[in-house]
Amino acid sequence: MTAAIPALTPDPTPRVAIVTGAARGIGAATARRLAADGYAVAVVDLLEEQAVETAETIAAEGGRAIGIGADVSDAAAVAAAVERVASELGAPTILVNNAGILRDNLLFKMSETDWDAVMDVHLRGAFLMTRAVQAHQVDAGWGRIVNLSSTSALGNRGQANYAAAKAGMQGFTKTLAIELGRYGVTANAVAPGFIETDMTKATAERIGVGFDDFVAAMVKEIPVARSGRPEDVAAAVSYFCSEDAGFVSGQVLYVAGGPRA
Ligand code: NAD
Repeated sequence: MTAAIPALTPDPTPRVAIVTGAARGIGAATARRLAADGYAVAVVDLLEEQAVETAETIAAEGGRAIGIGADVSDAAAVAAAVERVASELGAPTILVNNAGILRDNLLFKMSETDWDAVMDVHLRGAFLMTRAVQAHQVDAGWGRIVNLSSTSALGNRGQANYAAAKAGMQGFTKTLAIELGRYGVTANAVAPGFIETDMTKATAERIGVGFDDFVAAMVKEIPVARSGRPEDVAAAVSYFCSEDAGFVSGQVLYVAGGPRA
């Protein structure tokens, strides 16, 4: 008689994900989604108090999460945050580089400070976070990196800095895919179109339009005839983080309700 094959038991140690800029908006929805997918999640944000609140919401929903205050463009803060995640949740093998800011202006009015601030958060931030986390991914022989790009990467009036940073995120992603693939790590980018968050609310305010009118005007240009929700983006991130996406790397997925919004 042959021995019975033991039943497969689920892995008792959940994978650990870091989501930056996760205190609110797309990052918070992504952190909640990844927690629902079964990962332990570190909610990292400049806004420490709100990051902790988001982590508490996830815990109340039955997930495992911690909130950490850190500026992703600060190398020492990044190192400390990743170390804290490793010691409190376990080695992080999933990284979502979502933290972002806008400093929109037409080129002739754009200050050096506004150029640098956008490059620092999106590009330097993603670089520092990824460099710190890849050590854990390479050790584990498995990893997932998802970077937030944008339809603005294709060019957008008033966003020379942001468009350059978001196009840069795509080149960064493809290079990570090439360098880290042999260690079991995939890297992909999600490029949202118009999503209703504090970021787009601030844009409406800056140009002096009520948010409802702003959304209505944007929706006219969106083929699926609705605006995007943070959860729409979180679902795409969730796919790239999944086991099923292991042969998908270096890709950019536009989540825009159409070819571009
Ligand atoms: P949001 O402003 O609501 O959230 C961004 C979060 O990033 C905030 O919680 C903020 O505190 C945090 N953050 C900013 N600078 C940081 C830093 N230096 N270190 C750590 N955290 C920092 O914006 P959102 O709309 O949720 O955007 C999330 C991402 O999606 C951004 O990368 C954004 O560029 C991108 N995106 C958004 C849209 C959209 O329509 N909302 C479209 C395309 C791409």
